[in-house]
Amino acid sequence: MPKQPPLPILGIAAQPSRRSGVSKRALSAIRMLEAAGYEAYFCGGCVRDYIMGYEPNDWDIATNAAPTVTLEVFKEYATKTNGLKHGTVRVLLKDEELEITTFRTESDYADSRHPNSVAFVGSLTEDVQRRDFTMNALAMKVHNVLQGGGCRRQYEVIDLAGGVADIEAGIIRCVGDPEKRFTEDALRILRAVRFASKLGFRIEEATAQAALKLAPNLQYISAERKRDELNKLLCGEYAPQVLREYRELLAAVIPELAWQFDRDQLNPYHKYTLWEHTVRTIEALPCSGLNRWAALLHDVGKKDTFTTDAAGIGHFYGHAGVGAELTDRILQDLRFSNYSRTTITTLVKHHMDTFEPTRKAVRRAVFKYGHDTFRRLISLQRADRIACEPDAPPDDLFDRLEALRRELEASESVFTRADLAVNGNDLVQLGYRKKQIREELEKLVNAVLDETLPNERAKLLATAEDDIQALLDKK
Ligand code: ATP
Ligand code: MG
Repeated sequence: MPKQPPLPILGIAAQPSRRSGVSKRALSAIRMLEAAGYEAYFCGGCVRDYIMGYEPNDWDIATNAAPTVTLEVFKEYATKTNGLKHGTVRVLLKDEELEITTFRTESDYADSRHPNSVAFVGSLTEDVQRRDFTMNALAMKVHNVLQGGGCRRQYEVIDLAGGVADIEAGIIRCVGDPEKRFTEDALRILRAVRFASKLGFRIEEATAQAALKLAPNLQYISAERKRDELNKLLCGEYAPQVLREYRELLAAVIPELAWQFDRDQLNPYHKYTLWEHTVRTIEALPCSGLNRWAALLHDVGKKDTFTTDAAGIGHFYGHAGVGAELTDRILQDLRFSNYSRTTITTLVKHHMDTFEPTRKAVRRAVFKYGHDTFRRLISLQRADRIACEPDAPPDDLFDRLEALRRELEASESVFTRADLAVNGNDLVQLGYRKKQIREELEKLVNAVLDETLPNERAKLLATAEDDIQALLDKK
């Protein structure tokens, strides 16, 4: 999300010329509700992002129009009504889907997540009380002001919970009593840390203490919601600080990580405690989900493989393999997609493998893992190395591996069986049967990867012919 210079935060906010304006579609939806005689505001995270100079993900609208009225106002447009029970109508306005929610309060959270009852209320003042953090309880109105013969927009920020001062001070604070708010909905605990990770804000003391106290309630939150929040946390610019400061909150979701906290690795090669090493590995990677998940979990197998030798030195033999099994289970529990789970698990499993910076070795690695996973593996290994010895002289191994990988990617080299210039049918024509076909294809692929044979049909067929002859002669 591109960051722009923050607006001066005032009751009436000016729009600097460099800032992209508010969403045109959302503004026209607000105007339509107003024209029908209702109040309507930009509300929640979009106002927070807008005044901070971030491009909002979504432009949510809050209104005193009842959901049935909203449906009537937007009857010409496609609408989705699956959130109607909670007062939300989704309207597709041209190419933008907008969430329009009736002012509401919530009560009786029996399951630490979902309110048992939702009541529609008449005012924004009541509505903001249900919102999680002061910075998310802001609303904004856009006025058209006549000036010097022209029309100028004025942005009025409506701050009923002290959100503007908290944004200015960089503080995440619950609206109301934090223990009550986290008891109502434990997902808010993870939302607090993911905002801290994205914005670099600190969590206000009472809010942080309540989050720690009520973290066990995260067990009631769906795996998918936890996964999504943790993913945003890991991708945040300030993720390393948050992972250091609020590590117990992470351990409430992934208890396997708690063993790493303050863990001396008893090994001169490891300068840092295990958790600090994990955090530094994450820090050394760009803010991308899959790689950072692999970094988070890359040493998760160390707990079960930890031994000390006669000299008291710590070892973790086989931790990558054990870690891969644990990783697979953790990611299954968090309902990761098969693709993400397989990729992250492969990275954990092979993070200790060594690769020679030669064309041949890189070809083999790309054949085994594919370009995307091998590229990620090089990055993870580089980050892992940096996180062990940040002061070590620069090692160009990873640059050389990556350069060779790119070179191969750009060339037309053979990497999969499908790229081989002969196929199973060709071998059948030569007299190969069943298992022999697979074995011969494997042999030819390896020969091409090793550059002992070119990927040329005539040469491959000639080799295959010699090989079948040798097989027949043996019989
Ligand atoms: P994002 O940048 O991820 O969109 P957001 O704060 O806008 O962050 P949304 O899920 O879009 O998050 O929700 C919009 C608004 O709804 C929030 O800003 C907040 O006011 C309110 N909200 C969302 N989830 C909760 C929750 N669990 N508890 C209370 N209020 C919430
Ligand atoms: Mg949002």
